[in-house]
Amino acid sequence: MNTNNKIFNTDSRYKILFEPVKIGPVISKNRFYQVPHCNGGGYRDPSAVAEMRKIKSEGGWGVVFTEQVELHHSSEITPYIELRLWDDRDIKIVAKMADKIHEFDTLAGIELTYPGINGPNLYTKEIPMAATAGPILTFTSDPVNARQMDKEDIKNLRKWFRDAAIRSKIAGFDVICLYGAHGFGAIQHFLSRSTNQRTDEYGGSLENRSRLMKELTQEVKDAVGDKMAVSIRLSLQELGDKYSLTNNEIRECIDMHSSLPDIWDLAHGAWEDCSGTSRFVEEGAQQDLINGIKLLTDKPIVGVGRFTSPDLMVKQIKSGNLDFIGAARPSIADPFLPNKIRDGLIDDIRECIGCNICVTGDMTMSISRCTQNPSFMEEWRKGWHPENFQIKGDSSSILIVGSGPAGLEATRVLAKRGYEVTLAEKCSFLGGRVSYERNLPGLSAWGRVADYRINQINKLKNVNIYLESEITKKDILEFDFEHICIATGSKWKSDGVGRVNLHPIQIDKAMNIFTPDDLLNNVKINGKFVIFDDDHYYMGSVLAEKLVKNGNEVIFVTPASSVSEWSLNTLDQPFIQKRLIELGVQIICNKSISKVNSDNVELSCKYTGNIEKLETKNLLLVTSRYPLNSLFTSILDKDIENHKYLKSIDIIGDANAPAPIAWATYAGYNYAFNFDKVIDKEKVPFKREITQIID
Ligand code: ADP
Ligand code: SF4
Repeated sequence: MNTNNKIFNTDSRYKILFEPVKIGPVISKNRFYQVPHCNGGGYRDPSAVAEMRKIKSEGGWGVVFTEQVELHHSSEITPYIELRLWDDRDIKIVAKMADKIHEFDTLAGIELTYPGINGPNLYTKEIPMAATAGPILTFTSDPVNARQMDKEDIKNLRKWFRDAAIRSKIAGFDVICLYGAHGFGAIQHFLSRSTNQRTDEYGGSLENRSRLMKELTQEVKDAVGDKMAVSIRLSLQELGDKYSLTNNEIRECIDMHSSLPDIWDLAHGAWEDCSGTSRFVEEGAQQDLINGIKLLTDKPIVGVGRFTSPDLMVKQIKSGNLDFIGAARPSIADPFLPNKIRDGLIDDIRECIGCNICVTGDMTMSISRCTQNPSFMEEWRKGWHPENFQIKGDSSSILIVGSGPAGLEATRVLAKRGYEVTLAEKCSFLGGRVSYERNLPGLSAWGRVADYRINQINKLKNVNIYLESEITKKDILEFDFEHICIATGSKWKSDGVGRVNLHPIQIDKAMNIFTPDDLLNNVKINGKFVIFDDDHYYMGSVLAEKLVKNGNEVIFVTPASSVSEWSLNTLDQPFIQKRLIELGVQIICNKSISKVNSDNVELSCKYTGNIEKLETKNLLLVTSRYPLNSLFTSILDKDIENHKYLKSIDIIGDANAPAPIAWATYAGYNYAFNFDKVIDKEKVPFKREITQIID
């Protein structure tokens, strides 16, 4: 492996991050380690995944991993889409990733997984096998049980790991990670007394429970350890019942097997702990759990913590907590994080905001997107790049109306392409919805969406910004811009229309009705509040927090069966519900509001339709948003035809169709990327891989 680490003019404070580190038989050129992460593409979109990994390699990561790779057909986690290495035919797919990762002198890692008690096998229809028999433990609660593995099965499992390791070597990987973290891999299931209740030599004492981990590691090392490094990925603790793995037990385990792998990869807890949203989990939150573990082993340690601050990274290394800065989300939000630190471009780092929209791609089995980095997973499908842009086409002048995430992103990318861009904003500040939402409890990191873009735009000479400039149709017709992009955002509805009520609710005028926009504008209200949440994402619960903090009594009503139900996809729904319970919010699920009277609301049961009355004078409706598109619709075709300069008018972001912030940054990038290009609207607008028919 070429570890040629050129000398760059790196700030001396950060040089330590660029030291080469040995991992068994291989050497990483620096301490930046992209730990395995899912992407919602997996085996369905292998080229998209491969190109995404390549961009990280280009961005300077020392090690880049695949997502979890199911190593045998007897255990798979349908409906979630990861990678597979079931037989030799799969080698080609993962080899493409290894090749791409190698393009910029990066070590390629593959994460081998046997899901066991996590794998319902809905696709293969095989009977799942686990350390101990029991119901399959996944997000989808499938009514399926695993049978207990017998000695023959364990012997087979050793062979399957060996076979997969050999295939990984043929595919060209440098590092193998044996997945035993987040509750997702058989190694953890055997380690934990929760999921291992065996009475043979694989159950009982920690020595017995770690036997499988030891055997699998030795098997893999024996097969490929001369050339490949072997990593064991463990959770630093399990947060479950009294049988769950404690941090002390993990320390004991590492102490017992201190030199077993070539590197210890330590994750936080369950996936939802390890990938905690910024609303609940700070940067570097695993500090206490990992502190001192390095003293137990002479092997390097990698750990995660949504690290985006180079100073905190240095602290992790210097304090002896970590040898490698592990990152999944920070590497998604900014694949060029290492190179930017190396080159002293600290304020160009596009910091992860900890929103977990990337996770939703996996949870919804679609394909991931990132709020901060719209090019994520579009590198191959659309040819998007996080840093490099095609130079401008023929057009010269563009006016962007509205400076929310959509308008800011369109401005940034157009300006980087070399266009002269004018950005008009009716408020006295840039940022749109983010400027308001960043002030809500727990959402301050979301402000980075605006901060990053404003900072980038301010560095560009070809952007003219006009604040306090509300653009009208008259203005547009008088201006001499060639192209107009409307990004004027959306507003929350006050008529109750959402998913349950598709038409306005009957509302008595005497009731005080509020929308999230009122609270975002800090309208002060005293007294008891009913929140009706038919939106199901973060807004209802965040406003409940805000109201309680302002001293209001809050009753939270939702037709869903839990608070912020869609946040299951961002992994923080359980934390949200817990917080509202702890704040004393009364939660009423499975009920919707069918009528609003002067001093009460009529709740109707989702199942029976039974009506009951709930007294309140204040009602906050968090139901849906409507697009602010009147400026766009007011410009008619004939206005464009009669205009001397105007050639096009487009609408993007929430003004087109309201959605989470990630949809707005995507829309901005999309507009700017395609600007001045001839698009065949009949064609699928991206590359895709299609299942091959085998005769
Ligand atoms: P998105 O999420 O699509 O970017 P936002 O609601 O965050 O939308 O941002 C829209 C921005 O557009 C807001 O800052 C708003 O003040 C601004 N805006 C709305 N109408 C006009 C207008 N006519 N002229 C200039 N700015 C406008
Ligand atoms: Fe970070 Fe959000 Fe992007 Fe995920 S989607 S990488 S959490 S900014």
